[in-house]
Amino acid sequence: MTTEPPVLELVDLTRHFAAGKGTVRAVDGVTLTVGRGEVLGLVGESGSGKSTVGRCAVRLDEPTSGTVRVNGTDVTRLSRRALRPLRREFHLVFQDPSSSLDPRMTVGRIVAEPLRLHQIARGEAARVRVAALLAQVGLRPEHIDRHPHELSGGQRQRVSLARALSVDPDLLVADEPTSALDVSVQASVLNLLADLQRDRGFGCLFITHDLAAVEFLADRIAVMYLGEIVELAPTAELFASPRHPYTQALLSAAPVPDPVAQRSRERIVLSGELPSPLAPPPGCRFHTRCPVAVDRCRTEVPVPRTLPGAPGAAGDRRVSCHLVTDDGAAPDAAAPGHARPVRPGSAPGGG
Ligand code: SF4
Repeated sequence: MTTEPPVLELVDLTRHFAAGKGTVRAVDGVTLTVGRGEVLGLVGESGSGKSTVGRCAVRLDEPTSGTVRVNGTDVTRLSRRALRPLRREFHLVFQDPSSSLDPRMTVGRIVAEPLRLHQIARGEAARVRVAALLAQVGLRPEHIDRHPHELSGGQRQRVSLARALSVDPDLLVADEPTSALDVSVQASVLNLLADLQRDRGFGCLFITHDLAAVEFLADRIAVMYLGEIVELAPTAELFASPRHPYTQALLSAAPVPDPVAQRSRERIVLSGELPSPLAPPPGCRFHTRCPVAVDRCRTEVPVPRTLPGAPGAAGDRRVSCHLVTDDGAAPDAAAPGHARPVRPGSAPGGG
């Protein structure tokens, strides 16, 4: 029996940039997979390195070291030429569609461009296909002859989605696809992305700082802090029982729909700013802001550990913190000195 490889596999991915006399360690040793038809959410503050991971995943940026595999093929060091036929398999949808859509081209040409480049369809066949794609993303037939500046932000993002999906990719990397949009249209674009993903079954690396969006869309979530993944877990488990103190703080700041629950929940306020990736703190990178840090955290780098899975849970649960025990009990960042109990069914780990 053969098992299909994940659509995306990043192994020990590192991306460093030279900056003056120093080195920006934007991404440091990121390992993750996106399964076929799976949505993996990648969350973290701005400056955590999550967009750089996305750009390296589709080879718009060159990893410093590590491996990028798409559908089992190592694409890390492929030349642009060798990469071209594989480009069909993976696409990136940007945060701001205005910067990624050519203002001189009509919507019809923009969406047809990948079909032409990959020699999938031309002429009337391409036009028919483009019309069907525009309908799928909720645009009207007359939009085909419009230019990007004649569309609203939400419509432009729909065009980006139609273009990305025109060649039926196995992997879509969506980098903050709704954050440049008005709040009123964010939900409709997210719903569209969810519908398209379900109908077409592509794998998706969904990069966002919006926790409500990632809870809605993702099957699993990876949490990034200063270039590293500190926790990775199935979505329901992460929200029910975050293990890493940073994840606990992040989730405690997210608004919940119920105003009573909102008032009674304990918000964990982190002190200080995100340190510079030019000089990440030694030991655990989170120790300068962690409410439960101990001496060891200042010198010893926590090794990512896979915790035993909850019954029936799919996917890894991985966490990098000295204080999380092997049975999954975790420090409670809201009440330093206490451990969070392992909740029945939810998670001393997720598989
Ligand atoms: Fe906090 Fe230490 Fe755990 Fe890092 S290793 S998250 S500093 S307790």
